[in-house]
Amino acid sequence: MTARPRKGLRDVDPYTSPQLDVAARLNTNESPHPLPAGFFEQLADVVRDLPLNRYPDPMATRLREELASATDHPVAGVWAANGSNEILHQLLLAYGGPGRTAMVFEPTYQLHGRLCWITHTAIARGALPPDFVLTDEQVREAGDARPDVVFVCSPNNPTGNAQPVGIVRDLAEALPTSLIVVDEAYIEFADAPTATTLLPTHENVAVVRTFSKAFAMAGARIGYVLTSPRLVEDLGRVRLPYHLSSLTQAAGICALHHRPEALALIAAIRVQRDRIAAGLASIEGVTVYPSDANFVLFVPPGDARALWRRLLDRGVLIRDMTAVVPNGLRVTAGSEHETDLFLKAAKGSLTG
Ligand code: PMP
Repeated sequence: MTARPRKGLRDVDPYTSPQLDVAARLNTNESPHPLPAGFFEQLADVVRDLPLNRYPDPMATRLREELASATDHPVAGVWAANGSNEILHQLLLAYGGPGRTAMVFEPTYQLHGRLCWITHTAIARGALPPDFVLTDEQVREAGDARPDVVFVCSPNNPTGNAQPVGIVRDLAEALPTSLIVVDEAYIEFADAPTATTLLPTHENVAVVRTFSKAFAMAGARIGYVLTSPRLVEDLGRVRLPYHLSSLTQAAGICALHHRPEALALIAAIRVQRDRIAAGLASIEGVTVYPSDANFVLFVPPGDARALWRRLLDRGVLIRDMTAVVPNGLRVTAGSEHETDLFLKAAKGSLTG
C-alpha cells in the first residue's frame, strides 16, 4: 500500500538552506546580535505565568495592538503570523488558489514562486531590468497579464535594491482589483521609503514585514502585515485555528517593548554591509550590487560555485544564488569579526 501524493510533488525539493557549524554563517540573512538580556528576562517572567493549558488568543489582539502603535497603523489593518512566510502563504490562500494567477519579477525571493505552487496559484513571471529596479515597463506588463496578486520585494532579495514606492502605487492603480503584496522583510536596513504611505489611499496594497531580520528574532517565527481591515478579515477566513501560539505572541510583545535596543543594532549591521560591499569592490573583476538590505549580492570573476566551496573550506558559509542570478553569490552582513573572516577568505580565494 502506497499513498499517491499530488501530481509533481516529488519533482520538487524541500525549501531549505544549509545550517552548518562553521565560523561564519552568512547564508540566511539573520542578525548576528541576539536581543539584550533584559528581553529574555522579561520573556521568561511572562512565560512562567502563561496559561498554556488554554488555547491562545486567535486574533493575537495584544500583539496586534502593540504592532499598531509601533507602526502607527490602525489595529484592524494589522495581522500577525508565524514568520512573514506564513503571512505570504495566508495571502495566497485568500487571494490566489486554483484558477488564479500571481506575478513575480525575477530575480526575487524564491519562496514567492514556491508558495504559488503550494497553493495551486498559477505564476506569471516577469523580469526585472538589468539594474533590478522596477519601471513603467513592468507596470505595463502587469497591466497586460492582469494577475490576481503581484509580488514586489523591497528591498529585493537577493539583489538588495529597494523598489520605488511610486511604482507600487502605479501597480495598485493599474490593477485596482488585484492585491499588491510588498514584501518589506529588509526595510529597516534601507534608506529608501516604505510603501506603508500608500495604505490610507490604496486598499489593495499589503505590506509584509518580519521580526526575523532587523528584530533579531528569526527563531521566534513572527511576521506581520499592514493593510486594509477588509483584507485582515479575509485572512481570518483562511488561517488555521489558533495559528499563533501564546509563546509566540508573548515573544512578539516583549520584543516590541525592546524595540529601541533592537533598532539600535541596525546601524552596526549596515556598517558591516558597507564594509563587505567596499571590500568586494576593491577586488579586481568583482561586480557588487548596491544594497538597501542586510546582505550584498556580488558576481565574482570565474566560477561562483567554486568560490562558494573555497569560502566554505575556510569556514565561511554564504548563499549560492547561481540558480537565480548568473554566477551570483549573496553574503549576509553579520558581526565585524564575521566580515573580517569573509573578506579575508574572499581576498585569499580571488587574489591568491
Ligand atoms: N521575505 C523575504 C524577502 C525574505 O528574504 C525572507 C527570509 N529569508 C522572508 C520573507 C521570510 O522571513 P520569515 O518567514 O522568517 O519572516
